[in-house]
Amino acid sequence: MTRNSKLARQRVAAIVAGLAEAYPQAHCALEHSDIWQLLVATILSAQCTDARVNLVTPGLFRQYPGPAETARLTPEQLEPEIRSTGFYRNKAKSIVGAARRIVNEYTGKVPNTMEALLTLPGVARKTANVVLGVGYGIAGGIVVDTHVQRISQRLELTPNEAPEKIERDLMALIPQDQWIAFSHRVIAHGRQCCTARSPKCRACPIESLCFSPDKTV
Ligand code: SF4
Repeated sequence: MTRNSKLARQRVAAIVAGLAEAYPQAHCALEHSDIWQLLVATILSAQCTDARVNLVTPGLFRQYPGPAETARLTPEQLEPEIRSTGFYRNKAKSIVGAARRIVNEYTGKVPNTMEALLTLPGVARKTANVVLGVGYGIAGGIVVDTHVQRISQRLELTPNEAPEKIERDLMALIPQDQWIAFSHRVIAHGRQCCTARSPKCRACPIESLCFSPDKTV
């Protein structure tokens, strides 16, 4: 396969298949027991590791298990519980605001459409895609986090920097029935192999399909 064929469907299909073979069990690492908790954990995961979020959420969900309990709080009351995840003032405002809207407008149930999710405070496409894909099993789009952003660029699946544009490019290339799993697998690849610094290209399962100048082989 040559550089000239880099955007060929055949190459994209080989990348999708290679990642599927290498990371068959890849899944969302944020612990949750319902879709509300998934939404909260995803909001908390901005600029924070999933491991740190998973340390914070058990205590948080014991005290405030659902949107009804959370909607009764002020953001200031929630802040101490989530302080260690960073950006806690904005996150507290988003979580309490989302809880109130879900209680008042959606009968206490996290909505299951992109359009409705984007009306919740603090919810942009990335969070909405996690809720739809992981929570509801709906392929509404492709989660573009820092790993998906970096690896999509390295694999020349997109020339863009903005997550929304990267997502649009990926949605045009990847079959829709692969959107949810593709995000999980690329994130796993980013954590285990295609790291931001010194990617482990010798061990990369899709090395022959990658023409990135960042390659270490
Ligand atoms: S060859 Fe290296 S840079 Fe390319 S996808 Fe694999 S780990 Fe990443």
